[in-house]
Amino acid sequence: ATPLAVASAVSRGLDRGVVVRDASVFERAPDVDTVVFDKTGTLTTGEMTAERVVATPDATEADVLASAAALETYADHPAAEAIVDRADDATDLDGIPAASGVERHPGRGVAGRVDDERVLVGNRDLLAEHDVALPSALADAADAARDDGALPVFVVRGDEAHGLVVVHDDPRPGWERACERLADDGRDVVVLTGDDHAAASRFERHDAVSDVYADVRPESKTEIVRALASEGDVAMVGDGSNDAGALAAADVGVAMGSGTALAADAADAVVVDDDLASVGTTFDLATTAHGRVR
Ligand code: ADP
Ligand code: MG
Repeated sequence: ATPLAVASAVSRGLDRGVVVRDASVFERAPDVDTVVFDKTGTLTTGEMTAERVVATPDATEADVLASAAALETYADHPAAEAIVDRADDATDLDGIPAASGVERHPGRGVAGRVDDERVLVGNRDLLAEHDVALPSALADAADAARDDGALPVFVVRGDEAHGLVVVHDDPRPGWERACERLADDGRDVVVLTGDDHAAASRFERHDAVSDVYADVRPESKTEIVRALASEGDVAMVGDGSNDAGALAAADVGVAMGSGTALAADAADAVVVDDDLASVGTTFDLATTAHGRVR
């Protein structure tokens, strides 16, 4: 590509919601045969809402929400923000209780103490790791939430699971078209998520998606992208700080502008209009800059 063609592609990108941080991305993009999407915050808006609280008979919904919010105040997952927002708005809560000794468990949740009692807030793995059993009523409520595409966040006080908060995460509008466009160009579309297959089922079911890697620990995202990149040319699209390694490991890294600065810093291009169609635009700009057609 001539410097002029590249400069013009960079400037057209700006008009169409794509900030190119490294113009050599235009040389790499046309060869990409696999596009990997992070699920939460990338294929979904990442702006979650806590829709429902479920409590076991020995707890109240208000207690479950209060314990959850106490710890989530210290977390940085979108589910944490949703839970804190709901607690802030709850009229049956007298503020969010103070927590101490809060530890983050990436890809699982948070652990800490409230009123000198241990509290765990997170997924099934977090409970398993601390040898906390899941009562069948909560397991059933969690399965129902998952079938709905929602995320169940379990709340443990002391040694027992006392309830859960059902958190919704809506897909970004236009995700289907964005994936179809990439698939129509002959690229494989792959979804990576820390959630399980059920939570990703809406994406898994779609024809344009060729593969879903579920239950992926944050540190494994990079390994998976590396493995895929050893077999072909890979683009990674992500938003979170735990996507930075994968974005850097990919041949082409694209960050969502609403995501963290760490992700943007690791990416070749940033989608600033938060429109997933702009991922395809990045490839189109590259094709035009090079006068090359796939
Ligand atoms: P993703 O971007 O796919 O959500 P993460 O690795 O950030 O991947 O999280 C994976 C899973 O870990 C989440 O789906 C959730 O079940 C759990 N999790 C992580 N952090 C929290 C948190 N602060 N509160 C509740 N659950 C959490
Ligand atoms: Mg994410």
